[in-house]
Amino acid sequence: MKCKRCRRAEAAVDLPSHHAAFCPDCFFRFFRRQVTEGIRKLRLLAPEDRVLVCVSGGKDSLVLWDVLMDEGYATEGLYIDLGIDGYSDRSKEKVLAYAASRGKTPIVVELAKEGIPIPEAARCVRMQECSICGTVKRYFFNRVAAEGKFTVVATGHNLDDETARLLGNLLHWQRDHLARQHPLLPCGNGGLVRKVKPLWRVSEVETAAYGFLKGIDYVTEECPMSEDATSLVYKEALSRIEDRMPGTRIVFYKGFLDPSNPLRKGPQAPASTDAVSLLEEEPDADAASVTEAGAEEDGGSAQACASCGAPTYTETCSFCRLKERVRKAREQRAARVSR
Ligand code: SF4
Ligand SMILES: [Zn+2]
Ligand SMILES: [Zn+2]
Repeated sequence: MKCKRCRRAEAAVDLPSHHAAFCPDCFFRFFRRQVTEGIRKLRLLAPEDRVLVCVSGGKDSLVLWDVLMDEGYATEGLYIDLGIDGYSDRSKEKVLAYAASRGKTPIVVELAKEGIPIPEAARCVRMQECSICGTVKRYFFNRVAAEGKFTVVATGHNLDDETARLLGNLLHWQRDHLARQHPLLPCGNGGLVRKVKPLWRVSEVETAAYGFLKGIDYVTEECPMSEDATSLVYKEALSRIEDRMPGTRIVFYKGFLDPSNPLRKGPQAPASTDAVSLLEEEPDADAASVTEAGAEEDGGSAQACASCGAPTYTETCSFCRLKERVRKAREQRAARVSR
């Protein structure tokens, strides 16, 4: 089959949802255009932004970093080592190797050194790894962005991630989450760091194809903690629908983002590009953080965390509270062992 664009080269990527098939060069152009259009339409980034790209070692975040660099944005990568046996080391290797290939040195945060490696923390406080991981990652995204004077944090969530989350929010009528789900989370009252998802228009398959054809070496294994993630069930259901009715995902998500959709409040104006601060929470977090985000919505004002100084709506931020619970659990366990 010939490429639908240049009509000369053999097609390497078949995209039924776009009724197209492209050769590698034309696919690169197509993919980059999808990303830059997604950025432009929702005004996610400005040319003067300093972008902190959160890289996990997986295809999405490395592809995102690659495209943003190629598009001329000033970027640095942030890798958070979750302390998961084997998997974290392999992911870090991929991040370091990719960064080196582009002449970069990523910022690395090691949760084991911070006293809160995810698997042990989850065991200590008897919580799901993923919900701890969300709190901890958000905290460091904000902290590193503020310390490094970045104007925006970018994550590699793609169309599959966003539509899976949308389906989950709809099935459970999570109205608060639906109201705030958007590829742009602007700086809020009290100074939420601006967060963007520039890959919102491209699917997982498209991102994987871009990474493969560009020779980006990414970690292919899933995080071992993701086995029970309900998002995988939603992704699978949407994949089956997409297979039968190509193009459904993007229609679903674009319809949701339509400003006239009453389910979604979304950002009313483009975010300020200069106000980065250290507020800890993103609105899609657990119940405690939703309450804190709600305080902001209601006009509540942030204060400095009594322990670490990060902005929070409670006396100590959720990260410090979590760390304290882990510390106490460790002490109790040590006391039991020594008896
Ligand atoms: S699957 Fe869970 S623990 Fe693993 S990276 Fe994702 S949120 Fe974190
Ligand atoms: Zn072509
Ligand atoms: Zn704190």
